[in-house]
Amino acid sequence: MKARLATVWLQGCSGCHMSLLDLDARIIEIAQLVDVVYSPLVDIKEFPEDVDVTFVEGAVNTAEDAARLKRIRECTHVLVALGDCAITGNVPSMRNPFDLQQVFRRAYIENVAQPSQIPNEFIPPLLPRVLPLHAVVHVDAFVPGCPPPPEAIALALTEILAARIPDVHQVTRFGK
Ligand code: SF4
Repeated sequence: MKARLATVWLQGCSGCHMSLLDLDARIIEIAQLVDVVYSPLVDIKEFPEDVDVTFVEGAVNTAEDAARLKRIRECTHVLVALGDCAITGNVPSMRNPFDLQQVFRRAYIENVAQPSQIPNEFIPPLLPRVLPLHAVVHVDAFVPGCPPPPEAIALALTEILAARIPDVHQVTRFGK
């Protein structure tokens, strides 16, 4: 039996997903344990129902992120915060000490070579503060690091799956 695995990229740099890919050939071992049902690494648009494990990279920056995360929580048995942005806010939360208008002025007017303006459409409204995942939904497990080492990601996944797939340690050497 394979578990249904999803990975999600909110407001992060994608480094946590790159760390996952750094498992290289060991991904083949993990592929024996899971079906990837949603991820930026595959072309599936809608987050599905009944996902066993979801790893979420990045912090919550917009109301859209928060709504997306709540939907993911509803559809996921084990939700994992992947990396320091998801766990603490980390890099995206560097804007938190500043007023939003200050942030916009700095990003769109003061730091650009060409005359510009603050966009007022097609940009999801920012929350007043960037939030870690657990400030919005219940999180079941945390994998720290910026990014987390690939071995830590594999170990966390293996141990979570071990509760759902009895022979998991016979398939992969992670977690031994
Ligand atoms: Fe990037 Fe580090 Fe944030 Fe991961 S934790 S998304 S590597 S900045």
